[in-house]
Amino acid sequence: MEIKRVGFVGLGIMGAPMAANLLKAGFALTVWNRTPSRMEPLTKAGAAAADSPAGVAAASEVTITCVSDSADVEEVMLGPGGVIEGAPVGSIAIDCSTIAPPVARGVHDALAARGVAMLDAPVSGGDAGAKAGTLAIMVGGDERVFERCRPIFEAMGKTIVHVGPAGSGQVVKACNQVAGGLNLLAMAEAIALARGAGVDPAKMLEVVSSGAAGSWMLANLGPRAIRGDFAPGFMVELMQKDLRIVQQTADGVHLPLPGTALVQQLFRVLEAQGRGRDGTQALVDALAHLAGPLPAPGD
Ligand code: NAP
Repeated sequence: MEIKRVGFVGLGIMGAPMAANLLKAGFALTVWNRTPSRMEPLTKAGAAAADSPAGVAAASEVTITCVSDSADVEEVMLGPGGVIEGAPVGSIAIDCSTIAPPVARGVHDALAARGVAMLDAPVSGGDAGAKAGTLAIMVGGDERVFERCRPIFEAMGKTIVHVGPAGSGQVVKACNQVAGGLNLLAMAEAIALARGAGVDPAKMLEVVSSGAAGSWMLANLGPRAIRGDFAPGFMVELMQKDLRIVQQTADGVHLPLPGTALVQQLFRVLEAQGRGRDGTQALVDALAHLAGPLPAPGD
């Protein structure tokens, strides 16, 4: 049967535009956010507001969560007033946050024991992809449940892939963050070299972005980095959370990931400077900090 009533918990940088796209696609939407003012743009656009994640789940056939970290997902799913308290038997929970795979499996099992199915469905594509509805969505869990939810995913994303059983979506997201983190470092080093060697970094980006070394990071975050625009699309502290998940996952299978470890340490430079809530493009400043002052043009 077609799903019509969808709920959304966590209306942050990602959650708010994802929820807005569900409304635009015609779903009847119920929302909850810990900071209530963040619900207003959505309620003005036609969503109903609930007073807890349990309230959202009680009103919805499918409840989506997009909060920060593993403990936050456990809280909104399984804690007091959580999804588990309101979700009807036979309903579905989808978590779009990026969290540790074992936690995703634990939440899946706790909900399953109450007759509620769960998919882990972390996303990639940044704030721009969330607004445009073009996210890549990597989904773990029961394949039939995934197929039932496909129209919901299609309202929020463009590339939607079922990658395996519960927890697999989070493993693939960890892989995504390995590639994303190293692409960010490549972007930051290319900008540092252009600046240091006296070439306009905007010109460098213009041509390098469309050659064999092009990447989403160069094209989307490169211009922000060279403008000195460090407003977060994705915060350094959330990236560090993801890189910890990557390292824990690699530790579990005794896999060396030296490049990722380096990226994690460089982000630590920014955290040590109190810049954990800047966007990840601030990595350019970590390199600038290591390099010291640049020579003035003509020196
Ligand atoms: P964000 O702007 O900081 O939003 C976090 C949201 O989670 C807010 O609505 C916050 O509520 C809520 N929240 C956090 N802890 C909570 C708790 N314990 N109980 C209830 N609500 C809680 O972060 P974001 O960038 O949207 O990221 C959300 C998730 O998506 C993260 O797991 C992140 O790693 C992932 N992600 C982000 C991006 C990106 O580019 N930004 C891309 C892919 C994946 P308040 O409003 O009350 O603070």
